[in-house]
Amino acid sequence: MPDIIQLLPESVANQIAAGEVVQRPASIVKELLENAIDAGATSVKLILKDAGKTLIQVTDNGKGMSDTDARMAFERHATSKIKKIEDLFHVMTKGFRGEALASIAAVAQVELKTKQQGATLGTHIDIEGSKLKLHEATQTAEGTSFWVKNLFFNVPARRYFLKNDAVELRHCIDEFQRVAFTHSDVEFSFSHNGAEVFTLPRAPLRQRIVHLLGSRYNERLVPVEESTDIVHVSGYIGKPDTAKRTRGEQFFFVNQRFIKNSYLNHAVMSAFEELLPSGHFPLYMLYMEIAPEQIDINIHPTKTEIKFRDERAVYAILLAAVRRALGRHNISPTLDFEQETAINISPIRAGQEVQIPTLRVNADYNPFETTEKKSDALSGWFNAQEKGQSRWQEMMQIGLEVKPETKEKFLDQNNVAIEERTEQIAIDWEEDSPTFQVHRKYIARATRSGMLMIDQQRAHQRVLFEKYFAQMESGTGYSQQLLFPETITLSQTDFVLLQSMIDDVNALGFELEEFGGSTFKLNGTPADAGSTDAQKLLEGFVEQLKNERNSLQYTAREKMAWAMARTASIRHGQMLTQPEMTELVQQLFQCNVPYAAEYNKPTVITLSLNQLEQQFR
Ligand code: ADP
Ligand code: MG
Repeated sequence: MPDIIQLLPESVANQIAAGEVVQRPASIVKELLENAIDAGATSVKLILKDAGKTLIQVTDNGKGMSDTDARMAFERHATSKIKKIEDLFHVMTKGFRGEALASIAAVAQVELKTKQQGATLGTHIDIEGSKLKLHEATQTAEGTSFWVKNLFFNVPARRYFLKNDAVELRHCIDEFQRVAFTHSDVEFSFSHNGAEVFTLPRAPLRQRIVHLLGSRYNERLVPVEESTDIVHVSGYIGKPDTAKRTRGEQFFFVNQRFIKNSYLNHAVMSAFEELLPSGHFPLYMLYMEIAPEQIDINIHPTKTEIKFRDERAVYAILLAAVRRALGRHNISPTLDFEQETAINISPIRAGQEVQIPTLRVNADYNPFETTEKKSDALSGWFNAQEKGQSRWQEMMQIGLEVKPETKEKFLDQNNVAIEERTEQIAIDWEEDSPTFQVHRKYIARATRSGMLMIDQQRAHQRVLFEKYFAQMESGTGYSQQLLFPETITLSQTDFVLLQSMIDDVNALGFELEEFGGSTFKLNGTPADAGSTDAQKLLEGFVEQLKNERNSLQYTAREKMAWAMARTASIRHGQMLTQPEMTELVQQLFQCNVPYAAEYNKPTVITLSLNQLEQQFR
C-alpha cells in the first residue's frame, strides 16, 4: 500500500484555520476594531458596504506598524502581544493569538496602509487569499487602515452561507456595540452604504450607553458599583419595569472584553427575581475588572467565553451587587407590568357591536390567600351550587363578581352569539355550553365529545399571523391612519434595521417614512393592531424582529408576520370578556391552520370525555 498522508498546501491550511476566526463579516469587524483599540487608538472609523460582504474598512489613529511588522502581521501566530506561555495569564490586550489577520487574509482581499507615529513614510500592502500582491512605501496618515474586500471571494461555499444583508448588518452592529460599550474614551464612527449609523464622541460611560441605545434609556438605568478583593463590578442595570420580553440587552464585560456566561447571567436574574413578571428580561451592562491571572481567556478563538478561577465567588458578588443596586434605588415591583409592555388589543373588529364589559373584578380576591377571605369565596361557590346555577357562573363567583342587573343581558348576548356562529365553526360545540377563561391564560369550552382548552395568546397570534401574512402577500397591507402622524426616533441600531426592510414593513400595514437622522414619520399602523400607542407598537415590533430566531423554517415575510402577531397579540394574564373570547375562538377556527402557533406549538388541546372519565377512575 502506498503512503497516503500529505501535508496540506499552506493556502488550504490557512483557509481551514480561518474558519475558526472568520465566520461572517461581523467576525472581521470585531477583530479589526479590537486591533485598533490594542494599538491605543483614540479615534476609530468603521465603514461597511453591503453589510461587510463587499467592504469592511477600519481606520484608526493608533501607533501604526513598522514596514517589517506590517508584513509580519499577516503571518499565522504572529503577534506583538505575548512572547511566552506565561504571558497568557497577564494579557490586558484584546488580541494575543496572532491569527486574526492571517485568517482574514486567507479568505478575502486585504489592503493595509499604516504609518508609525512620527515616521515620514508609511507602508502599503495588498494581500489576496494569503498571497502577497504588493508591498511598497507610501504616504499615509499616522495610524492604520485596513480594507477587507470581497469576503470569501475564494471560498464560494462559505459566501453562500452568509445571510441576507439585514441579518449580517445586525451582527456587525452587535460587534461594534460591544467594543463601543467598553471604550467610551475612544471616539467611533460607523457608516453603512454611505449612510451614517453611529457617530460616538468620547463621553462618560452613561452617555455612551445612551448614544448607543437611545435617549429614552437615560432614565431607565440604575448604577451598580461593588468593589471586592476578587472583582470590581460597575455598570448599569435597567429598572425592572422597563424589562423586555426578549433578552437582547444583556451584557457582561470582563476587563473590557464582551463575554457570554449563562452562570453569571443566572446571578443577575436571581437578583431581579420577583421584581420581574415571568418571561421578562432586564437590561444589564455589567463591567467586571479582575486580575488577569484569575481568568483564562484562551479557551475559544473568539474569546467570548472565558473561565474564572473562582466562578462561585464572582457569582455571589454579582448577585449582591445587583441586589444592592436595586435596593438602594428603592425599586419596588410595580404591580401591573403588563400594562407597560404588553399591548392591550381586543380581537373584536372595528364596527362590530360590542357589549361594554359588565364584569367587575373582585379586588379582594386572592386565590392563594389562606385566611377567611378564601372561605368567603368558597361559600359563594356552595351557595351557587345550592341555587343550581350553571357551573361557569359558580366558577366566576369565586373570583369575580357579576352585577345582578347585567347578568341576564350578558348571558343572553353570549348564548345568542354562540348559536349564530355554530354553523361557521366546524367544531361540534356542546349546545349552551359557556366559554370561560382559566387563569387568564386559557379559554375552555365543551364540545359534544369532551372539551377544548385554547391558549389565548397563541390562538390570537395564529389569527393575526394569517391576517398579516395574507396582507403582505397580496400587497394590501391595510393600515389604520393616525390622526396625528408621529415622529419616532429610534436607536441607530433599530433605525438601520427598519430602514433595511422598510418596504416589507410598510406592506404589513405600517406607514413609515424616513424623516432625517434616526427618525421616522409614522402615518399609520397595521390594522387589527388595536388602538395602542403607535410608538410602543413600533418599538415592540422592532424588538420582536430583532429577536427572531434564526430558523430556516420560515421565509422572511413569514417571520415578519409572526413578529407582528407577537407584538399585537393578546397576552397571557389578560382578562377577556365573553364576547372577546367568543370572537377569538371563532376567528381561530376560521384560520387555515387553527391548531398550530409559531413553530408548530399547539394552540388548542382537546380532552375527550373518555380521557376525562379515565382521570376519574
Ligand atoms: P493579535 O491581535 O492576536 O496579536 P492579529 O492577527 O490581530 O493578532 O494582529 C497581529 C499583529 O499585528 C498585532 O499583534 C499587532 O502588532 C499588529 N496590528 C494589527 N492591527 C494593528 C493596528 N490597527 N495597529 C497597529 N498594529 C496592528
Ligand atoms: Mg488581533
